[in-house]
Amino acid sequence: MVCLHTAEGQKLFFQTVYVEMGSEARSDLLRPLGTKLNELGCVLTDDHQHTSTDGLFAAGDVVRSLDQISVAMGQAAIAATAIHNRLRSSETTV
Ligand SMILES: Cc1cc2nc3c(=O)[nH]c(=O)nc-3n(C[C@H](O)[C@H](O)[C@H](O)COP(=O)(O)OP(=O)(O)OC[C@H]3O[C@@H](n4cnc5c(N)ncnc54)[C@H](O)[C@@H]3O)c2cc1C
Repeated sequence: MVCLHTAEGQKLFFQTVYVEMGSEARSDLLRPLGTKLNELGCVLTDDHQHTSTDGLFAAGDVVRSLDQISVAMGQAAIAATAIHNRLRSSETTV
Protein backbone atom coordinates (compact mmCIF):
# COMPACT_ATOMS: atom_id res chain seq x y z
CA MET A 1 0.00 0.00 0.00
CA VAL A 2 1.30 3.45 -0.98
CA CYS A 3 0.21 6.53 0.93
CA LEU A 4 0.34 9.86 -0.91
CA HIS A 5 0.29 13.09 1.12
CA THR A 6 -1.20 15.91 -0.95
CA ALA A 7 -0.17 19.54 -0.62
CA GLU A 8 -3.57 20.14 1.01
CA GLY A 9 -2.79 17.66 3.82
CA GLN A 10 -4.98 14.85 2.50
CA LYS A 11 -3.81 11.21 2.67
CA LEU A 12 -4.59 9.01 -0.35
CA PHE A 13 -3.94 5.23 -0.38
CA PHE A 14 -3.12 3.21 -3.51
CA GLN A 15 -2.05 -0.37 -4.28
CA THR A 16 0.29 0.85 -7.03
CA VAL A 17 1.58 4.21 -8.23
CA TYR A 18 3.11 4.76 -11.66
CA VAL A 19 4.37 7.98 -13.16
CA GLU A 20 2.64 9.46 -16.19
CA MET A 21 4.55 9.24 -19.47
CA GLY A 22 5.74 12.50 -20.95
CA SER A 23 8.36 15.16 -20.41
CA GLU A 24 9.08 18.80 -21.13
CA ALA A 25 12.06 19.43 -23.40
CA ARG A 26 14.43 21.97 -21.85
CA SER A 27 15.65 23.38 -25.15
CA ASP A 28 15.79 27.07 -24.20
CA LEU A 29 19.57 27.12 -24.69
CA LEU A 30 19.02 26.38 -28.38
CA ARG A 31 16.45 29.10 -29.08
CA PRO A 32 19.05 31.91 -29.51
CA LEU A 33 20.84 29.71 -32.07
CA GLY A 34 17.67 29.41 -34.13
CA THR A 35 17.87 25.61 -34.02
CA LYS A 36 14.67 24.09 -35.39
CA LEU A 37 12.32 22.81 -32.70
CA ASN A 38 8.87 21.31 -33.01
CA GLU A 39 5.75 22.80 -31.42
CA LEU A 40 6.60 21.06 -28.11
CA GLY A 41 10.13 22.49 -28.01
CA CYS A 42 11.77 19.18 -28.99
CA VAL A 43 14.87 19.44 -31.17
CA LEU A 44 14.47 18.22 -34.74
CA THR A 45 17.42 16.20 -36.05
CA ASP A 46 18.31 14.24 -39.15
CA ASP A 47 19.05 10.48 -39.09
CA HIS A 48 22.55 11.20 -37.72
CA GLN A 49 21.25 13.34 -34.81
CA HIS A 50 22.49 16.51 -36.51
CA THR A 51 20.29 19.53 -35.78
CA SER A 52 19.49 22.38 -38.16
CA THR A 53 22.45 24.28 -36.61
CA ASP A 54 25.69 23.29 -38.34
CA GLY A 55 27.92 21.21 -36.06
CA LEU A 56 25.28 20.82 -33.34
CA PHE A 57 24.09 17.30 -32.51
CA ALA A 58 21.37 16.31 -30.05
CA ALA A 59 20.32 13.09 -28.31
CA GLY A 60 17.92 12.03 -25.58
CA ASP A 61 14.73 13.50 -24.23
CA VAL A 62 15.41 16.91 -25.79
CA VAL A 63 14.99 15.29 -29.21
CA ARG A 64 11.57 14.41 -30.60
CA SER A 65 11.45 10.65 -29.94
CA LEU A 66 10.45 8.04 -27.38
CA ASP A 67 11.77 9.25 -24.00
CA GLN A 68 13.60 6.14 -22.81
CA ILE A 69 17.18 5.55 -21.65
CA SER A 70 17.88 2.98 -24.37
CA VAL A 71 16.73 5.45 -27.05
CA ALA A 72 18.93 8.24 -25.61
CA MET A 73 21.93 5.90 -25.56
CA GLY A 74 21.34 4.77 -29.14
CA GLN A 75 21.00 8.36 -30.33
CA ALA A 76 24.19 9.29 -28.46
CA ALA A 77 26.07 6.48 -30.19
CA ILE A 78 24.78 7.62 -33.59
CA ALA A 79 25.72 11.24 -32.82
CA ALA A 80 29.19 10.25 -31.57
CA THR A 81 29.86 8.30 -34.75
CA ALA A 82 28.68 11.18 -36.94
CA ILE A 83 30.84 13.65 -34.96
CA HIS A 84 33.85 11.31 -35.26
CA ASN A 85 33.38 11.00 -39.01
CA ARG A 86 32.90 14.75 -39.38
CA LEU A 87 36.10 15.49 -37.44
CA ARG A 88 38.03 12.87 -39.37
CA SER A 89 36.94 14.25 -42.74
CA SER A 90 37.83 17.81 -41.64
CA GLU A 91 41.34 16.59 -40.68
CA THR A 92 41.98 15.19 -44.13
CA THR A 93 40.96 18.44 -45.87
CA VAL A 94 43.36 20.63 -43.78
C1 LIG B 1 9.93 9.40 -13.21
C2 LIG B 1 10.60 8.89 -14.45
C3 LIG B 1 10.74 7.52 -14.64
C4 LIG B 1 11.39 7.03 -15.77
N1 LIG B 1 11.53 5.68 -15.93
C5 LIG B 1 12.20 5.20 -16.99
C6 LIG B 1 12.42 3.79 -17.14
O1 LIG B 1 12.00 2.97 -16.32
N2 LIG B 1 13.11 3.37 -18.22
C7 LIG B 1 13.60 4.23 -19.17
O2 LIG B 1 14.24 3.79 -20.12
N3 LIG B 1 13.40 5.57 -19.05
C8 LIG B 1 12.72 6.06 -17.99
N4 LIG B 1 12.53 7.42 -17.86
C9 LIG B 1 13.03 8.30 -18.93
C10 LIG B 1 14.53 8.52 -18.78
O3 LIG B 1 14.80 9.02 -17.47
C11 LIG B 1 14.97 9.54 -19.83
O4 LIG B 1 14.60 9.08 -21.13
C12 LIG B 1 16.48 9.76 -19.79
O5 LIG B 1 16.91 10.16 -18.52
C13 LIG B 1 16.86 10.82 -20.83
O6 LIG B 1 18.23 11.14 -20.68
P1 LIG B 1 18.74 12.55 -21.13
O7 LIG B 1 20.21 12.54 -20.87
O8 LIG B 1 18.26 12.87 -22.50
O9 LIG B 1 18.02 13.63 -20.19
P2 LIG B 1 18.13 13.83 -18.61
O10 LIG B 1 18.43 12.55 -17.92
O11 LIG B 1 16.89 14.58 -18.24
O12 LIG B 1 19.41 14.75 -18.46
C14 LIG B 1 19.41 16.09 -18.90
C15 LIG B 1 20.33 16.86 -17.95
O13 LIG B 1 20.54 18.16 -18.47
C16 LIG B 1 20.40 19.09 -17.42
N5 LIG B 1 20.00 20.37 -18.01
C17 LIG B 1 18.82 20.70 -18.56
N6 LIG B 1 18.84 21.97 -18.98
C18 LIG B 1 20.07 22.44 -18.70
C19 LIG B 1 20.72 23.70 -18.89
N7 LIG B 1 20.09 24.72 -19.48
N8 LIG B 1 21.98 23.84 -18.46
C20 LIG B 1 22.62 22.79 -17.87
N9 LIG B 1 22.08 21.58 -17.66
C21 LIG B 1 20.81 21.42 -18.08
C22 LIG B 1 19.35 18.50 -16.50
O14 LIG B 1 19.46 19.03 -15.20
C23 LIG B 1 19.72 17.02 -16.55
O15 LIG B 1 20.70 16.69 -15.59
C24 LIG B 1 11.90 7.94 -16.75
C25 LIG B 1 11.75 9.32 -16.55
C26 LIG B 1 11.11 9.78 -15.42
C27 LIG B 1 10.97 11.28 -15.23
